[in-house]
Amino acid sequence: NPAGRNYLIGGNWKCNQTTESALELVSVLNAAGPIPTNCEVVVGIPYPYLALVASKLRSDIQIASQDCAHSAKMGAFTGEVNVNQLKDVGCTWVILGHSERRSGFGGDSGESSNLIAGKCVTAVAAGLKVMLCVGETLEERESGDTIKVVKSQLDPAIKALQPADWENVAIAYEPVWAIGTGKTATPEMAQETHAEIRAYVASALGRDVASKIRIQYGGSMKAANAKALLAQPDIDGGLIGGASLKPEFADVWRGML
Ligand code: PGA
Repeated sequence: NPAGRNYLIGGNWKCNQTTESALELVSVLNAAGPIPTNCEVVVGIPYPYLALVASKLRSDIQIASQDCAHSAKMGAFTGEVNVNQLKDVGCTWVILGHSERRSGFGGDSGESSNLIAGKCVTAVAAGLKVMLCVGETLEERESGDTIKVVKSQLDPAIKALQPADWENVAIAYEPVWAIGTGKTATPEMAQETHAEIRAYVASALGRDVASKIRIQYGGSMKAANAKALLAQPDIDGGLIGGASLKPEFADVWRGML
């Protein structure tokens, strides 16, 4: 983009796909033509299909998991998957702190920003890159608390990580009210928050970190609205859910050629 940051185009399959549909989408993406040199493409795959997708997907698309265990250790952690296992099956990225994980899906209390910060430390220490998700609910936006909420979600990670670690972290700004709803923030609205996030990173971690960090937008992003969002000076990519399950995902990077 104009500031010299490469676009980070992330897909997030969430809890979707079977072996058959995953392989179908992989062949579509494999045949989808060149990725522009100013774009980095990563897809977030459900655990059961990570190894399969990593073995079949073109090598210029990177693989992310959608979470990781807080500890990097092997051991008695039923249900967890650790960063070393993720690297072993071909992951180079991990999505952390997605609003769906923060919310707990209505079933449990969900992940706190402190827990998520600890996972960031574990992931970066293992050599994985992180897409750290933040974003406000509709209620929080309407009461004027957007940046306050985002800062409070970032603060534990700012405390826990070393400044140099941020080279391996992107921030995905995903307003909760825009996720899966078809309601996208307008490019101007998203840009405003992205600029505020970058200014906050500058004040907390310095101008150098702030000028390099990629801030992705997420929430009903798709090929039709990606170009206008990515044209904004502080929007350095996307984290795309629904539209990443379709051949349309490739149109996002094709639009940047
Ligand atoms: P969506 O999801 O594109 O389906 O709105 C984005 C996300 O939750 O990462």
